[in-house]
Amino acid sequence: MARDIAIDLGTANTLVFVRGRGIVLNEPTVIAMNERTGEVLAMGNEAWKMIGSTPGYVVAVRPLRNGAITDFDLTERLIKLVFQKIGVNRFSHPRALICVSSAITTVERRAVEEAALSAGARTVNLIEEPMAAMIGAGLPIDQPRGNCIIDVGGGTTEVAVVTMGGVVSSRAIRVGGFDVDDAIQRFLRREYGMAIGERTAEAIKKEIGSAAPLPDEPKAEIRGRELATGMPKTVTVSAEELRVACEDAVAHVMEAVRGALADTPPELAHDVIERGLHLTGGGGLLQGLDVRITEETTIPVHVTDSPLETVCLGAGQALDSLDKLREHGVLMG
Ligand code: ADP
Ligand code: MG
Repeated sequence: MARDIAIDLGTANTLVFVRGRGIVLNEPTVIAMNERTGEVLAMGNEAWKMIGSTPGYVVAVRPLRNGAITDFDLTERLIKLVFQKIGVNRFSHPRALICVSSAITTVERRAVEEAALSAGARTVNLIEEPMAAMIGAGLPIDQPRGNCIIDVGGGTTEVAVVTMGGVVSSRAIRVGGFDVDDAIQRFLRREYGMAIGERTAEAIKKEIGSAAPLPDEPKAEIRGRELATGMPKTVTVSAEELRVACEDAVAHVMEAVRGALADTPPELAHDVIERGLHLTGGGGLLQGLDVRITEETTIPVHVTDSPLETVCLGAGQALDSLDKLREHGVLMG
């Protein structure tokens, strides 16, 4: 049974690390909900599957889409479903370490803690995502040196400069990969009179989406539905025109990076320039984002080894030294 677990409840993906076993769950943060009754029927891959094969009032909801844990009941049900999936029951009360945004409010913090306790956790500790990402990226968190983590997720982007177990300057914005998908959908509507689904938009983004010119500027064939007639339609779109369409979202990320760096005390800023910026999160995989950040900050960018897992792996590693991390002030509360 799961005893010590770390949970990364991301806006796009939920990952769970069990101490001694590694990552045991990695599924989209999506729930299938009966719109009429509010009942939550499934989460993750199971929820996606359900949408296609059930009546129209069963809908897919991304409960954390904008990063905030606003709905306590929904969060509790989400955590319960996650616990069920990994075999936590009322006899196995695990100790849970949960990753949260460094911009989380006190109210949201309580909501997460209480939701996890009521879902069956014995104790709950919270760790700020940038700290977990630092550990996951193999960076030292107990040295008086500055390091900068840029975590681009689905609904949020967090930039943090961290030293000696604490965040010294940060920016958290509600812009991430989802906004790039939205921009692609809006662009196709506007320029080609064509509708595509959210998941098609995401697939196009992964294929030819970019934040800086690509060596070959590839094109992609996109299938959708013509707005005027409702008929199937296929168009060919270039990386360049998509890049222009997504510029707003990328510009917001750039602004957050510049803001966090501008607030960094000079001696730490020096470390950051020397060590480079660490880019993580699935959104960090957008082609050319690393190049773009380097161009605008003149600081080298390192993409972490498995950006979609870095935060969860870091929190999982933190399970081995919770007491020490608490002493260093790395855990919240
Ligand atoms: P969160 O922590 O908010 O759950 P993740 O770190 O899991 O977010 O990242 C999810 C985002 O990463 C999604 O918007 C997804 O489309 C995007 N993403 C994943 N892989 C790629 C890729 N290869 N290129 C561009 N974006 C990607
Ligand atoms: Mg994340």
